[in-house]
Amino acid sequence: MSEVILSTNGLTKSFGAFKAVDGVSLEIQTGSITGLIGPNGAGKSTLFNLLTGVLKPDEGGVTLNGQDVSGLSSDKLFACGLGRTFQIPRPFARMSVLENVMLAPIGQIGETVAGPFLKRARMRSEEMHIRERALEVLDFVTLAPLADHPAGKISGGQMKLLELARVLMGNPAVILLDEPAAGVNPVLTETLISKIEELNRRGTTFLIIEHDMDFVMRHCDPVIALAEGKVVFQGTSEEALANPVLLDAYLGA
Ligand code: ADP
Ligand code: MG
Repeated sequence: MSEVILSTNGLTKSFGAFKAVDGVSLEIQTGSITGLIGPNGAGKSTLFNLLTGVLKPDEGGVTLNGQDVSGLSSDKLFACGLGRTFQIPRPFARMSVLENVMLAPIGQIGETVAGPFLKRARMRSEEMHIRERALEVLDFVTLAPLADHPAGKISGGQMKLLELARVLMGNPAVILLDEPAAGVNPVLTETLISKIEELNRRGTTFLIIEHDMDFVMRHCDPVIALAEGKVVFQGTSEEALANPVLLDAYLGA
């Protein structure tokens, strides 16, 4: 039996008079690698921003694990197990790769600590713990050899892996990836895919925006298509391939 981990209900967001996301209702199944496709400007990144608390919807809501999480900040959602990467990675360029990963969960440090003395000792031990965990995560994404490099000096593909590493610091149950393969060389794309599949086998759910239809057809199921802010297709990758409207929009052009 399938379970829904993330859902939206009538999610709507306008910029001025323009509806970028228009009444989107979706259900993401636990354990899936769901693909989100659609032409440029369809509202995919805006939908991610609504799902992750970066933007507040004008209408509609989001549930995570059956809980209404509408209106929660990105930090709170990260703490609740929802992680995301951005279409354009934004590392702190002058900090090292390791420091960038260590910074990911910093918002949570000391939040639950009462006194200032306790807090300082607690923060030191938390920092050591975070460093260890960051090194583990960097090892997982194959960036350990670059741990001390300035994050601004690594390649675009390595930045995508760094983004994934930052997200993994939150032990997320659901990871949203915004165009993970865009501008990434084939070797690093394969690395990224193998890491996504390994995490998925261990239970992580993925929602992936991707333009590379080969990527989507090979690795995502089901597939959801957005156009002009609306869901225009939901189905298996085979159904997507056989759908004349989608073929026209994505493969025919
Ligand atoms: P996609 O990721 O599918 O390419 P986006 O969600 O980035 O599309 O954008 C959807 C539409 O909303 C586009 O027309 C874009 O120009 C517009 N848009 C996105 N963000 C903003 C914003 N912050 N202010 C105004 N318009 C925006
Ligand atoms: Mg986008």
